[in-house]
Amino acid sequence: MSQFPFEPKTMTTLPIVGTKARFPVNRVYCVGRNYADHAIEMGHDPNREDPFFFQKNASNLDISGEFPYPKKTSDVHHEAELAVLLKSGGENITVEQALDHVYGYAPSLDMTRRDIQAQQKKLGRPWEISKAFERSAPIGSVHPATEVGHFTKGRILLKVNGMVRQDGDLDQLIWKVPELISYLSEYFELVGGDVILTGTPAGVSSVQKGDELEVEIEGLNTLTTKVI
Ligand code: MN
Repeated sequence: MSQFPFEPKTMTTLPIVGTKARFPVNRVYCVGRNYADHAIEMGHDPNREDPFFFQKNASNLDISGEFPYPKKTSDVHHEAELAVLLKSGGENITVEQALDHVYGYAPSLDMTRRDIQAQQKKLGRPWEISKAFERSAPIGSVHPATEVGHFTKGRILLKVNGMVRQDGDLDQLIWKVPELISYLSEYFELVGGDVILTGTPAGVSSVQKGDELEVEIEGLNTLTTKVI
């Protein structure tokens, strides 16, 4: 007999390029408005202010290649993002030490019920129902930093049915990857398995059933997701 009164859900794990080992996911932190041009398109001040974060659930990460159009919304947006995956963590990590904790990188999507998010913002309420729903974070294979290095620049593109909708560069990140890790570690104890979605460039737009989304980040395999 199991020690549990019912079968526990299995841990979310992600495929890693070049090995059969899998990346075990702990928490998923997401950064808001981390590219100036996206902050402007959402009606906010692009000047550097402290970063802010929300979370998705580990089980929201999805590697199936399909994104089921969610309930209770008629305006779902794509947000193409670089995901940073940690192999270790701690508290009060310095910017200088931050990259030592990075296992690797993956292309990802922060899918968003934009209509619900707008209501929640107006009411000053948390964003979870607009952000942390089932399969809301399609993600590609993990590329170890030992293979691909660290990213300070590189094109990040999102295509819908082959048409470019988001076209940015990682050098436009307002808060860079080491700074994000350091900042988060002042508020949370980071651990190996934590994932950070680093924000999206301008060009977010609605998706429809049948759309094929591609996230292309220079140096990583393309993430392809079909909206079903
Ligand atoms: Mn986002």
